[in-house]
Amino acid sequence: MPGGNPSIHSSAAAGTFRSRLFNPPKFHRTAVAERVIRAVQPKARIISVKASWKEAAGKLKFCDVIVGGFDTYGEREELERFARRYLIPYIDIGMDVHELPDSQFLISGQIIVSVPGKPCLRCCNFITDERLRLLR
Ligand SMILES: [Zn+2]
Repeated sequence: MPGGNPSIHSSAAAGTFRSRLFNPPKFHRTAVAERVIRAVQPKARIISVKASWKEAAGKLKFCDVIVGGFDTYGEREELERFARRYLIPYIDIGMDVHELPDSQFLISGQIIVSVPGKPCLRCCNFITDERLRLLR
């Protein structure tokens, strides 16, 4: 199971924690993200948007940080490019679950921080033309 798609956009200012959660209407992951944020910061000001990040791009471009967990490389690249266009740091989170022959599972994943002016997901060789072609 991939890492999922709740894009959590947060900013910290003067001791407060503000978040905007973007999620397509068919998913309930924003509720999970909100619960996790409140566990860390009970007084967080959270705005939940029932839309994809593209539908809510006008609001997204004012965020201080974007966290994405898309299932495909193409979506990851699009969101990273959007973040870089608006000079917003982007944190990409991914996870895979592999079934092992002995009926056990191996869970692996990565977190990549992409900051404007620093190496991107392509520089890290995480996004490649071959991966985009094979795993869109
Ligand atoms: Zn790069």
